[in-house]
Amino acid sequence: LPTRYGTGEKSVWVEYIQLALDHKPKANLGQGFPNFYPPDHITNALAAAATSKNPLLNQYTRGFGHPRLVNSLAKLYSPLVCQNLNPQTQILVTIGAYEALYTAILGHVDRGDEVIVIEPYFDCYEFMITRAGGTAKYIPLKPVPDPNCGNNLTSANWKLDMQHLESLFNCCTKMIILNTPHNPTGKVFTMEEMQVIACLCQKFNVICLADEVYEWLVFEPKQHVKMATFPGMWERTLTIGSAGKMFSVTGWKTGWLYGPANLIYNCTVVHQNCVYTCLTPIQEAIASTIEYELARFNTPECYLRSLSKELVPKRDYLANALKESGFIPHIPDSGYFMMADWSKLADKIDLSKEKDEYADYRFTKKFAKETSVLTLPPSAFFSKKSKKLGENFARFCFIKQDENLATAAKQMKDWF
Ligand code: PMP
Ligand code: GLN
Repeated sequence: LPTRYGTGEKSVWVEYIQLALDHKPKANLGQGFPNFYPPDHITNALAAAATSKNPLLNQYTRGFGHPRLVNSLAKLYSPLVCQNLNPQTQILVTIGAYEALYTAILGHVDRGDEVIVIEPYFDCYEFMITRAGGTAKYIPLKPVPDPNCGNNLTSANWKLDMQHLESLFNCCTKMIILNTPHNPTGKVFTMEEMQVIACLCQKFNVICLADEVYEWLVFEPKQHVKMATFPGMWERTLTIGSAGKMFSVTGWKTGWLYGPANLIYNCTVVHQNCVYTCLTPIQEAIASTIEYELARFNTPECYLRSLSKELVPKRDYLANALKESGFIPHIPDSGYFMMADWSKLADKIDLSKEKDEYADYRFTKKFAKETSVLTLPPSAFFSKKSKKLGENFARFCFIKQDENLATAAKQMKDWF
């Protein structure tokens, strides 16, 4: 039988993770994951759950979320969304934020519905929307230089054309996906931008799917603002979080959604028929870690506060190394990715033997061969029509041990 899907379904993750396995780059700054240990109390919590005297901690647990975990999530998020979250009806635990996205999109988008997607965007949104029968309506963030900031570009330079955004809303719009803090630019959407989105959602009766997996990784003085807290938005917002990003355990693949019970219900219906229940010892460990962090929430030791502080020197080190090697980095206000413009290096690197259609694929592959530093091509995060907007960039992940960042810096400098 012929395959159902065409070559248009190629995944940047499948391709670049394989490249990393095949070529073992000296510095892998591609896929986003920390290459250091999470704190001991997190891994000890998993060991304790798996070897607990309670034999049920290694068996199936409640389908919509292990009771201890949904209770701790309710405690964590209730004050942050100014609601008294009901752990039974307003929270759903999922296999990573990926499944949270899947249940929210499949649970709400029908044939003929339109979903507004801000690009660059986490690539799976597109597949999920189209498989649900919906149509993605894209609007790009574009880097707009600010004359007041000289040559220093930051993620805040990536701007939305608000009139264009408004023009996309109509009676077919079912949902807008808002990823703030944003992957891959690191942009933290401003209050003003979010206010406009909130007004449009209310005017056109639209659901906001708030992908906030990097919520704990915002660098001072920027602050994360939750769409669910805007007046009139709790009723129409589904918010997504991820333990992987929160506690540097991406391999634990546990995420969640919270929101009003009627919308969460639609997500639970998808979940109960596709996954049914998530991993019990992992959920137990995350619950106990959240309880531990809540007990020291307002101290600098709290991991939810300390990780973003640890990332700032890594970000600055990488930005400097990139500048010294001829890139123009766009300094992120959040997250663990940096977009860097490589167009000034075009004369230094011969891409003619690389076969890929998009220049950033050709660049990142050749650059990895010449420097042994692996990065990702951001055009993968743009719709077909807008891929050119990503072609001059490479995405660098900086949640790595300092010695790996130093290796990357040295490799790039020697090459330059
Ligand atoms: N959304 C965004 C914006 C992401 O970067 C990621 C990273 N994997 C996810 C969702 C999925 O997260 P998880 O690993 O928890 O499935
Ligand atoms: N969110 C991570 C990234 O953007 C991992 C994505 C993935 O594994 N598909 O790199």
